[in-house]
Amino acid sequence: MKPAAFTFQRPAELSEALAAYAANPGAKILAGGQSLIPLMSMRLTTVSELIDINGIGELSFIDVSEAGVRFGALARHAELHAHEEARRVQPMLHAALSHVAHATIRNRGTTVGSIVHADASGEMPVVLTLLGGTLTVASTEGRREIAADDLFIGPLETALESGEIAVEAFVPALPARHGIAFDEIARRHGDYALCGLGVVLGLAEDGGIESVRAGYLSVTETPIVVDLTDCFADGIDASSLVAAGEKALEQLEPEGDIHASAEYRAQLARTLTARVITAAHADAKARLD
Ligand code: FAD
Repeated sequence: MKPAAFTFQRPAELSEALAAYAANPGAKILAGGQSLIPLMSMRLTTVSELIDINGIGELSFIDVSEAGVRFGALARHAELHAHEEARRVQPMLHAALSHVAHATIRNRGTTVGSIVHADASGEMPVVLTLLGGTLTVASTEGRREIAADDLFIGPLETALESGEIAVEAFVPALPARHGIAFDEIARRHGDYALCGLGVVLGLAEDGGIESVRAGYLSVTETPIVVDLTDCFADGIDASSLVAAGEKALEQLEPEGDIHASAEYRAQLARTLTARVITAAHADAKARLD
C-alpha cells in the first residue's frame, strides 16, 4: 500500500527542524521510519508533512560516563546494542535491545524513536521507566527534561507537546551490588513480545535481597514497573518466586488478541517473573566477584 500524499523536508540543523515543526503542528518527525512509514503506508495514520531529522548530525551520538548513558535521537538500536562501554555501565540496554525487532530494523530504527512511539509492547519505553531514565525534548521555546514516569500517558501517547522534538535520552548507570536480566516470549525471535520483562535486583551488604523491580511489556497499555521487593524479605526460593508472579499479576492487565489469550499471557507473566528474577539474582552475585 502507499501513503497519502505528504510534503517532505530534511533540515540539516536542529533549529531549522524546530522552526518547521512549530510552523506546522500537523507535521510528523521522521527518525528511523520503522514504525511511522508502515503506519502511513497502511493508512493507519496520515501526515501532511514529514520533517526528516536524519540530516541533523548533532543528534547522532552515544555518550557514556560513570553516571550513565546519554544517547541522541539518531542513535540507532544497533549502535547502542553494540556499544561496549554503554553495556558495561548499564547492561540492561544491551539485554533489552537484543529483543528489539530484527537486525535490519535495528540498523535503521532509533532507540529514542522507539521511546517516543510509546508502544507498551516495545522494549525501550519500559526499560526507560524501569531504569528511571529521562527524555530531553526541544522546541522553539527551549528545552525540557521529562522523567520516564511522567512520559507515557496512554497507548502510543506521550507527554510531548506540539512542536517538541525529542533530542536525547538518558539512563543512569547500574548501581553497585545490582544485577539485571531481561527476557520475553515472542512467536518468533524479533517479533513483538506476547509478554516480557526486565528486572533490576539489588543485594544488601549481608547478601540478602534489598530491592527487586520488574518492568513488564505487552501486558498493560502503558509501560509498568512493579516493586516486588516485599516478596523476598526471607530470601529467594521457589515459593517467593511464585508469590512475586502473583503480586505482579495484581497490577498487570493481560488481554487476549489474535496472538494469545489473556490466560496464556498471564501464565507467561508468572513464568517469566520467576525466570527473570532468578537470572537477575545470579547476575547481581556474579558482579560481586
Ligand atoms: P519512526 O518510525 O521514525 O517514528 C516513530 C514515531 O515516533 C513517529 O510518530 C515519529 O513522528 C515519532 N518520533 C520519532 N523520533 C522522534 C523524535 N526524535 N522526536 C519526536 N518524535 C519522534 N520495536 C520494538 O520495540 N520491539 C520489537 O520487537 C519491534 N519489532 C518490529 C518489527 C517490525 C517488522 C518493524 C517494522 C518494527 C518493529 N519495531 C519493534 C519498531 C522499531 O523498533 C522502530 O524502530 C521504533 O519503534 C521506532 O523508531 P524509529 O526511529 O523507526 O521511529
